[in-house]
Amino acid sequence: SGQADNMRRILLKISGEALGGSAGFGIEPQILAHAASEIRKVQDDGVQVALVIGGGNIFRGAALQKAGLDRVAGDQMGMLATVMNGLAMRDELIRQGGKCVLMSAYGIPSISAQYSAVAGRKALEDGNVVIVAGGTGSPFFTTDTTAVLRAIELKCDEVMKGTKVDGVYTADPVKDPSAVRYTSLSFNEVLAKELQVMDLTAFVLARDHHMPIRVFSMNNEGALLRAATGKDEGTLVSD
Ligand code: UDP
Repeated sequence: SGQADNMRRILLKISGEALGGSAGFGIEPQILAHAASEIRKVQDDGVQVALVIGGGNIFRGAALQKAGLDRVAGDQMGMLATVMNGLAMRDELIRQGGKCVLMSAYGIPSISAQYSAVAGRKALEDGNVVIVAGGTGSPFFTTDTTAVLRAIELKCDEVMKGTKVDGVYTADPVKDPSAVRYTSLSFNEVLAKELQVMDLTAFVLARDHHMPIRVFSMNNEGALLRAATGKDEGTLVSD
């Protein structure tokens, strides 16, 4: 049943801001539960899932810098925020009957396992959702860049960027009702048309390593499973 089109291993990126719900801050339990249940469907279908969650619902380095904090400290606070989101998501996935491990880019031994590509691949093979937290471990990067980097390291088939919008449009669909969704785009088309998919660091890394990126709506029931099983969902950016 469409098994041939299944992805074997995906990297899902969701923003921290999404977890904050209408307030955009903290973690809204229903949003967390919904995201976890969408992930559980994919896991039950036999697709291996690596997960990067942002930290924007708690702290962002750039915003802290504007408030006067040193950027490096601010970014470290942002990276720690992704670990908090990871702890919440692991808890929820396990409550929903899933297997999950949390791995952090930097050592926090009593809270999280240490990330390595080898340990991550092993945990994925063992059927765990692998939450790769702590960003890249370095300031001045984003969790979009983390998502692409980890997808390459973990040999994922695709980066799936779950957003509020169900793909990449010709114009902002909120402002322009005539905007249409692209089903697919090449990396170079995205650059030429100046479309917003990910920040440039993340985007160029994906292009250089031929890592496809799919933008889809995490809010649409079953969309993640449809995308992971080869159905037309969102916008696929690839070579
Ligand atoms: N961050 C960082 N290095 C990384 C990833 C993240 O310094 O490799 C910090 C940065 O301050 C960022 C914050 O963590 O603002 C939260 O990540 P992001 O803004 O990507 O979260 P999202 O917008 O997806 O919620």
